Amino acid sequence: MAVLQLSKIARLYKKGDSEVRALDGIDLSIEAGEFLAIVGPSGSGKTTMLNILGCLDSPTEGRIVYDGTDLHGLDEKALSAYRRDRISFVFQSYNLIPVLTVRENVELPLVIEARAKGKGAGRSDADIKALALEMIEAVGLSDKANRFPREISGGQEQRVAIARALVKKPLVVLADEPTANLDSKTAGEILDLMRDINEKKGATFIFSTHDRLVMERARRIVTLHDGKIVSDTTSSHSAANSAFSGIGGTNSSKRSS
Ligand code: ADP
Ligand code: MG
Repeated sequence: MAVLQLSKIARLYKKGDSEVRALDGIDLSIEAGEFLAIVGPSGSGKTTMLNILGCLDSPTEGRIVYDGTDLHGLDEKALSAYRRDRISFVFQSYNLIPVLTVRENVELPLVIEARAKGKGAGRSDADIKALALEMIEAVGLSDKANRFPREISGGQEQRVAIARALVKKPLVVLADEPTANLDSKTAGEILDLMRDINEKKGATFIFSTHDRLVMERARRIVTLHDGKIVSDTTSSHSAANSAFSGIGGTNSSKRSS
């Protein structure tokens, strides 16, 4: 069964008298374990799409079914619990808490979950610590567990953000341009890490990018243009190339922003 099913999703923004259709009739089905890139030029709707997939924003039209649950049927409280328990985010600005160590940052989602469930129902402190250390090891940062974010590099900070996103074993991990603030070598390493975790842990990754190196590592590439899907290819290098050259004639050495 599809982990995520979008039917006729539209998101309208009013700008004065005119309307912007940031998303315009999106039909998309995503299976568990996919490693999917959403690509397209600036303004094509990538961020709007990820915000809607992450329940941070609601579509003006259409239906989202997550793992059999129709989000339309959930009230505000249920929706926020759903987001907390099942969906994780990796942001381009990492968003680590500066006064917490690497380990404490990774523990945070589990601590929040335990608080929300109330005393006795959540995991113990010892379990939380063990799970965090396991994820920190998976992203190759065991020797940095007690460091603060300011003491590690940008690439390492993004690794911590990935560990934090995965620690609660979410249904999907969403990442809006996760490598935008990294040099291309580090960006490649972060994508390799995400793909490795995708394969080993079976986590479903959906990320947006307009970085060609990042795009080439995706297994499936959905290309947006003016809020519509203009291509959906299961990748090989040539699929990545054709998706990229489909973006308004952008050439391979240029990045749009
Ligand atoms: P991308 O992430 O691909 O650059 P976005 O999803 O940010 O694209 O934007 C898609 C379209 O929706 C753009 O035309 C943008 O100007 C518009 N848009 C996005 N957010 C808002 C908003 N909060 N209010 C009005 N228009 C918006
Ligand atoms: Mg964007």
